[in-house]
This record gives sequence, C-alpha cells and structure tokens, in this order.
Amino acid sequence: MQGATYVFFGIIGSGKGTQINFLSEYLKNKGVEPIRGATGDRFRQMMQKDGYTQSIIKGYMERGKLVPDFLANMIIADILTSSLSKEGVLITDGYPRTVSQSKVFEGMMEFYGRSDVKIIYIEVSREESMKRNLQRGRHDDTEDGIAKRFDEYVNNVIPAMEYFKDKKGYEILHINGEQSKDDVFKDIIKALNF
Ligand code: AMP
Repeated sequence: MQGATYVFFGIIGSGKGTQINFLSEYLKNKGVEPIRGATGDRFRQMMQKDGYTQSIIKGYMERGKLVPDFLANMIIADILTSSLSKEGVLITDGYPRTVSQSKVFEGMMEFYGRSDVKIIYIEVSREESMKRNLQRGRHDDTEDGIAKRFDEYVNNVIPAMEYFKDKKGYEILHINGEQSKDDVFKDIIKALNF
C-alpha cells in the first residue's frame, strides 16, 4: 500500500467520513500514517481567521456552493508539497469535485509518478440519502434541499469521478453504501485486496 492514493466519493449521508476514519485507523494499525487531503476541513479552518479572501469564500460556503477550482487545487497542492513523500499514503476527501479539478489532480499524480490510485465510490440511492439526511434532522435538511444536493452531486461530482474511468493507473471501486458501517468497510477492504 506504500505510495498508494485513495480518493473517496460519496454524497452526504453515504457515510464517507466514517469510512475514511475507518481506513485511516486501519492504516495506522499497520504502521502507516496517511496524509489526509480534506478540502472542506481546510476551508473551515481557513474561515477561523478574518481576511479579504476569507470574506469572499464565506459567501460560497454559507450557500453550500463549491468555491472556485483554483482554491481547492491550491489547498491540495499545499498539502502535497508540504507533506507528501514517495511512500506516503494519500487519502483525499471532497476533492476532486469538478472535472476541471480532476484534470489538475491527474497532473499532480503524474508529477509525483503515482500510478496506483484507487477511487472508492460509496453508493447510496436517492431514497436512502434522503432517509438518512432527514433522520439527522438538521434544520436546513428539508426534503427539497436534500433532493437538490443529491441531484447536484450526480450531475457535477460524479462526472469528476467518471473522468478517471478506464484511465491507466486509476481504478474505480463501487461500494454498496446501503449496509451497516462495518459491512461497508469490509467491502472496502476486500475491494482494495488488503
Ligand atoms: P465539505 O465539508 O467537503 O462538504 O465542504 C464544505 C464546503 O467547502 C463546500 O460546500 C464547498 O463550499 C467547499 N469545498 C470543499 N471541497 C471543495 C472542492 N473540492 N471544490 C470546491 N469547493 C469545495
């Protein structure tokens, strides 16, 4: 698994965050400390400070809109240039999210000579995503809002994943997300041949 790259895709409610935590723990138990490229976390961290750039980004994040590609690319480039080593295991969470980001990411992987990129897509249906998000009961989780986010994900983020379909050095693993957390993780481990 040295030098491997894991790219997670999954709509909110797919359990993506939980599975990334499981995989990180699993790797740590094997003595591998993964580097985590979570753009959303970095943007939230950035927002702790005041500043001109922050004041513009704030408007995007409050509306749940994707921030411009150059910012997401910058975050990942910063993480890679400061933390990546040849053997380092990289896990990305929430990146790439547009086809344009996928192209930049491809260039990054080429730069670092990485040809073992596993894309882990945790699939849940529209109905399941709806059910889980409504159960979480966040006040802004209306049925319409969730349906819109699901459609946006399918229309915008899934093409960013499909960009890598049949590309040498990339493999897309479809994981059934409509199972218990532990069973989803078992399937991920199986799919990764661990
Ligand atoms: P997340 O926690 O991954 O849902 O990200 C929170 C917010 O950060 C998103 O709603 C976007 O505004 C921004 N964001 C995170 N990742 C990206 C990305 N790859 N491209 C553009 N915007 C992003």
